[in-house]
Amino acid sequence: MSARILVVDDIEANVRLLRAKLEAEYYEVLTASDGPTALALAAAEKPDIVLLDVMMPGMDGFTVCRRLKDDLETRHIPVVLLTALDGRADRVAGLEAGADDFLTKPIDDVLLFARVRSLTRLKSVIDELRQREASGRRMGVIAGVASRLGGTGGRILIVDDHERQAERIAAELSIEHRPVVETSPETAMLAARGPVDLIIVNAAAKGFDGLRFAAQIRSDEATRSLPILAIVDFDERSRLVKALEIGVNDVLPRPIDPQEMAARVKTQIRRKRYTDYLRENLDLSLELAVTDQLTGLHNRRYMETQLDALVRRAVVGGGDPVALLVIDIDHFKKVNDGFGHAVGDEVLREFAVRLASNVRAIDLPVRFGGEEFVVVMPETELADAHRIAERIRLHVAGSPFRVMEGSELLTVTISIGVAASLADDTPVKLIKRADEAMYEAKTHGRNRVIAHAA
Ligand code: GH3
Ligand code: MG
Ligand code: MG
Repeated sequence: MSARILVVDDIEANVRLLRAKLEAEYYEVLTASDGPTALALAAAEKPDIVLLDVMMPGMDGFTVCRRLKDDLETRHIPVVLLTALDGRADRVAGLEAGADDFLTKPIDDVLLFARVRSLTRLKSVIDELRQREASGRRMGVIAGVASRLGGTGGRILIVDDHERQAERIAAELSIEHRPVVETSPETAMLAARGPVDLIIVNAAAKGFDGLRFAAQIRSDEATRSLPILAIVDFDERSRLVKALEIGVNDVLPRPIDPQEMAARVKTQIRRKRYTDYLRENLDLSLELAVTDQLTGLHNRRYMETQLDALVRRAVVGGGDPVALLVIDIDHFKKVNDGFGHAVGDEVLREFAVRLASNVRAIDLPVRFGGEEFVVVMPETELADAHRIAERIRLHVAGSPFRVMEGSELLTVTISIGVAASLADDTPVKLIKRADEAMYEAKTHGRNRVIAHAA
């Protein structure tokens, strides 16, 4: 997977070296030699990753990083800080400024490409979610933008059979999070299926292979998107590379530096919250777009998209007609006036349950608006629709509705108009005929079904 990478360093030779390495692996490279230029380029070009030198005259790397992370347009771009070999303080400060990762100079090629690959993968997931969120917002069903999502209070699963080390980690993390320790991979695998925000696994565990555990987490449908932080001995380079190849999100060197761990954990939790937020909004927006909130039935907007296609198929395809019921609750105003709006709502909900349980699986029960409902019946003759309508009517009028927690019993009746599609029909004409039949049922005394004579 290729990516566009912005390299920022004030020393020309460093920029040239990184550019050569990255271009040899077919990455597209943009460069800047100072902070303000980097910010302008990041905003204009939206690179996939920023490799950012810390030590620069004028605006330093921390400031650039903080600005990138404060801007809604650029905050999702992973930032990798380039720090000096002994720059532990720099690394912690950088992570606190919102950096996603760092590399120490001189830069190790294997680590460079492993990190770039794993960040590119992650970036593409976030891009996808952002795009879907944006289209959801265009449909007018998502309110607001992801605000600053916190990186604390995370549910963290620590998987390590080195009990003293695990307890130390848990104690450190419990200041800001809710850590749990599991010492065996089997029980950890079960725990991972519960609510977890981050897994920390010891890749150097004695009794089990931590990387095999990480691979299992990645291959299980229920857990594959969980972030994983692996504790690795950096002397064991092949293990380190393997961890990143498996898809571990980040690595933590031993001996563990508590501050560094806290910062890296916070980054992972924040990222998890971000993707969770986008996912939840996506699910919600899809549901809101097609569902009536009070009754849980389909809404009118959804019905219209379906009915168009069904009528066209019946008319052009020459198959069985589409039948349609328009249902209106009789004297519903009296329920509201006599018992209050909340009881009216209860009646609507109970009616929706009775309606949905009396239509066939292929039928589409819809709340059309107010106390009016529609059932769309694909491939149904007028006479069959009439029979089903009669069954619904009886099921509503036949037993009273229990409202106010059973303290009141109300008899509810409905009037139903039935129509079926004709040659050369349209959805609008079909609905109109069923509606006219429903009004006829009203004028003939309510609590009855009338089919529109074709
Ligand atoms: P008819 O038999 O002629 O249909 O009489 P009706 O009283 O049912 O008809 P009308 O259209 O005059 O009144 C419908 C009422 O439904 C008025 C409105 O306040 C009420 N209504 C519409 N939507 C809701 C809702 O979501 N909840 C509640 N509780 N009432 C609603
Ligand atoms: Mg009514
Ligand atoms: Mg009405």
